[in-house]
Amino acid sequence: MTPDQLQPALAALDAQSLRRVRRVLDGPQGVRVALDGKSYLSFSSNDYLGLANHPALAEAARQAGVSIGVGAGAAHLLTGHHRLHHTLETELAAFVGLPAALLFSTGYMASLGVLPALLDRHGEVFEDKLNHASLVDAAVLSRAKLTRYPHADMAMLEQRLASSSAKVKLIASDTVFSMDGDLAPLAELLALARRHDAWLYLDDAHGFGVLGERGQGALALLNGEPDARLIYLATLGKAAGVAGAFVGGSVELIEWLVNRARTYIFTTAQPPLLAAAVSASLRVIAADGWRRAHLAALIGRLKSGLAGLPWPLLASDTPIQPLMIGGNSEALRLAEGLRARGILLPAIRPPTVPAGEARLRISLSAAHSLDDVETLAAALHELAHG
Ligand SMILES: *Cc1c(COP(=O)(O)O)cnc(C)c1O
Repeated sequence: MTPDQLQPALAALDAQSLRRVRRVLDGPQGVRVALDGKSYLSFSSNDYLGLANHPALAEAARQAGVSIGVGAGAAHLLTGHHRLHHTLETELAAFVGLPAALLFSTGYMASLGVLPALLDRHGEVFEDKLNHASLVDAAVLSRAKLTRYPHADMAMLEQRLASSSAKVKLIASDTVFSMDGDLAPLAELLALARRHDAWLYLDDAHGFGVLGERGQGALALLNGEPDARLIYLATLGKAAGVAGAFVGGSVELIEWLVNRARTYIFTTAQPPLLAAAVSASLRVIAADGWRRAHLAALIGRLKSGLAGLPWPLLASDTPIQPLMIGGNSEALRLAEGLRARGILLPAIRPPTVPAGEARLRISLSAAHSLDDVETLAAALHELAHG
């Protein structure tokens, strides 16, 4: 792309209705948001537990900011690694039941750091076709061979693993798939990793805080003994309501990442006041079982409320509930119709999802009320018959 090519390339995006624009949020993230000066009922955040604007988190950040300021001022390996980061890592490891944890500035950076730290061009990465973009980019950056298997197809994965002669193998999968809301076959993935001597990298961006009795995430569903081949990633900007991510695993793995993960080493540490906010968030996540119970009730109400529509919901028991529309223009028409009724719900189109599988990605939050779900259902029924 040369400077001269940008303007026509952008015009081409316009012509295909693929140009992405940002809308400006005023006030807090939540189920009622002010966007471009208008107020909406929103089903379009990843703030699954409603913690992004929780007073205990904001107060923890404020207090830390007042006492130690804002900027970390240096990378972790220089003087940027604050006591608040260090304490939080211990808390996170204990919370998910792993020996050690390491904080990263974002989930994207964590994956870009971990895979190249473990694999080179002699390695092979096996990825579910529906994995998040960051996992694909991490594999590419590592220079390992990238093999993608059809969604959740364990027979195909096993075949690929069996025919691989790579020295180091790594299976990477989302736990909860971000555009479908379904769960990866976690136990089968771990069994295959064991049988074929591979690492298992689980990206729990949409499971942490949501899955498990206390919100410990996907590993609570595995309830096995710790396994040195398991690498766990959770992000802290979704259900946890703050920002950042952490990788959990064996003590040796974490030590290796401190020494070799370039996105950990060559970047300024996150402001420690965010670590204080995450610590506060962990306490709320563990204590407020009602948030997960309420989410389950919302999911049930959504499923019954949307029955009878011409479009099916994908099979999902997580707060990600995709309504399958099919065509791009139909999905856009519905999203616009909802917006005109004061409801914000994104139309997800190719290339984010396969062609012909455009959808409305309904994202529920513990901050929604049952009435909010009824409002959405009524609007969709109206649009279906309009
Ligand atoms: C959001 C997301 C990420 C990236 O996490 P950030 O902390 O937002 O960079 C990684 N993986 C999955 C599956 C995600 O949904």
